[in-house]
Amino acid sequence: MTYRIAVIPGDGIGHEVVPEALKVVQAAGVDLDTEDFDLGGARYLRDGLVLDDDTLDRWRSFDALLLGAVGTPDVPPGVIERGLLLRMRFELDLYINQRPFTYRPAEGDGHDFVVIRENTEGTYAGEGGFLRKGTPHEIATQGSVNTRFGVERCLRYAFALAASRPRKHLTLVHKTNVLTFAGDLWQRTFSEVAAEFPDVTTDYHHVDAACIYFVTSPERYDVIVTDNLFGDILTDLGGAVSGGIGFASSGNLNPDRTGPSMFEPVHGSAPDIAGQNKANPIAAILSAALMLDFLGEPEAAQRVRAACDAVGERSGSTTDIGDAVVAALTD
Ligand code: ATP
Repeated sequence: MTYRIAVIPGDGIGHEVVPEALKVVQAAGVDLDTEDFDLGGARYLRDGLVLDDDTLDRWRSFDALLLGAVGTPDVPPGVIERGLLLRMRFELDLYINQRPFTYRPAEGDGHDFVVIRENTEGTYAGEGGFLRKGTPHEIATQGSVNTRFGVERCLRYAFALAASRPRKHLTLVHKTNVLTFAGDLWQRTFSEVAAEFPDVTTDYHHVDAACIYFVTSPERYDVIVTDNLFGDILTDLGGAVSGGIGFASSGNLNPDRTGPSMFEPVHGSAPDIAGQNKANPIAAILSAALMLDFLGEPEAAQRVRAACDAVGERSGSTTDIGDAVVAALTD
């Protein structure tokens, strides 16, 4: 079986880490037919293109998308984020953002948990606007959109994932004591969907408490489900307590498979180290492992993860670390 993958190396270290991820997938014995798409900050600065309708339509026929990192310091904030990343999520209906965090220190037990972040609604839906912009009386509003449909499908995915894991434990993270409307919808829907998954034990944490637990006792978590904004922030913290940004992987999933899903490391284009063969490619390689899982190649995905574990936190150049993972795979 050969999988058709749309590759968006993007900007900065994206161009360095993506080839390592592809190299490791090939070494794991999975055939990919790849096509590169030149998008991101550099492309925008060159000819003003962020994402055209034709490209978006062409992506629908691929099995998956693999993205390195997009963004350059010269592009105003929001242009690439909204025009490329958020547009991809909305138009390809990538309603789940799945970010696994595994940490096995030399001493102690470490942790192994997954954050499921709702990826198409909340404060990122683009609801709001300006009134009297640029005047002393200007007003900016940014609403949080939470639909029963969007919340329920996200919770259902999180419960099913928790049910498939040995600990079968799911924690809802929100701020229900202050965000009483959105929080109420999340909490009620959580309780209702829980009734369909009697094997899954459940818990609830306020997001501020979860930040403390991520640092003091992350081993308490198995699967966490949360909204778009809390998920964005919590997963950066998750990366920080799990070996650092160089190890954090993610999948933007369309679980209904009405189109391709997109896989990308959590880190950005890191302009400070770009072009120096210094970036850690493990986050991109682990993102490719998530892609293999989703394509129906769980055995190859597991082998790639084990090879990354074997390489551990070794320092070295981007290509050296990629080579070490390939060597560990074929050992
Ligand atoms: P963005 O807004 O796109 O996330 P950013 O500048 O906030 O961009 P990053 O690009 O992820 O965030 O960079 C943050 C810091 O982490 C930088 O110092 C960068 O060098 C470092 N960094 C990011 N990714 C890696 C990596 N794969 N290996 C090593 N260092 C990295």
